[in-house]
Amino acid sequence: MADRGWEDRLEFTFLGTGTSNGIPVIGCGCDVCRSVDPRDRRGRCSAVVHDGERVFLLDTATELRSQALAVGLDRVDAVLMTHAHADHTGGFDDLRRFNELMGRHLPVYADQGTATLLRERFAYCFVDAFPFYGGKPDLVLSDVDGPFDLFGREVTPIPVFHGRLPILGFRFGRLAYVTDAKTIPPDSMALLRGLDVLVLNALRATPHPTHLSLPEAVAIIDELRPRHAYLTHLSHQLSHAAATAMLPTGIEVAYDGLKVVVPD
Ligand SMILES: [Zn+2]
Ligand SMILES: [Zn+2]
Ligand SMILES: [Zn+2]
Repeated sequence: MADRGWEDRLEFTFLGTGTSNGIPVIGCGCDVCRSVDPRDRRGRCSAVVHDGERVFLLDTATELRSQALAVGLDRVDAVLMTHAHADHTGGFDDLRRFNELMGRHLPVYADQGTATLLRERFAYCFVDAFPFYGGKPDLVLSDVDGPFDLFGREVTPIPVFHGRLPILGFRFGRLAYVTDAKTIPPDSMALLRGLDVLVLNALRATPHPTHLSLPEAVAIIDELRPRHAYLTHLSHQLSHAAATAMLPTGIEVAYDGLKVVVPD
């Protein structure tokens, strides 16, 4: 089913792991914003799945350019968007460099609500394809409302709720990426069984109306029992060390640039 077409070994890279302000937060003097631990410097959330030679980008965070440079990202075969909030789309224009590197249009996948917002905000990326590549993004946007094919691999969208907003996580074989969730409906929980690696958002220790807290994320992971889980989308209310100290074995706090091999 959901694992069709994927290699036995995937690589996953966290490009950014911070909430919408990033860390440090502008003008904040808190302990986490002043931390000397490099893992406490977090850009906005974005990630990359590497499957053989194919590279799939998850969201286009505000810092996409610097994130791509930091990990040596030099190709993107397709872009998958979880939702259209500004922290996940702020680097959208930098996709044009991947058009140039690939010498072709880039496919972009999103649910209907996200696709509508992307077409409004970034209309120039979807019209007037250039005869050369690099002057602007040249994108082919597909609305997804169920499993879809990505170069012979089946991707399963995972519908979750970001407060009241329906957004998508994605499953790639034995790996799933779910960010900005507050609740995961039962049908979507069923799509997250049998994973080697689950990436899930966890904002801070205390509850929040639109994001999972760390204890809420741990409870979901306990129920799903992936072999390994990583938390992302942290705020400056939790340092890497403090968050790590709250976690049982098998669950880790991600940080910008972290590379994970699946299965690990
Ligand atoms: Zn702070
Ligand atoms: Zn969001
Ligand atoms: Zn976000």
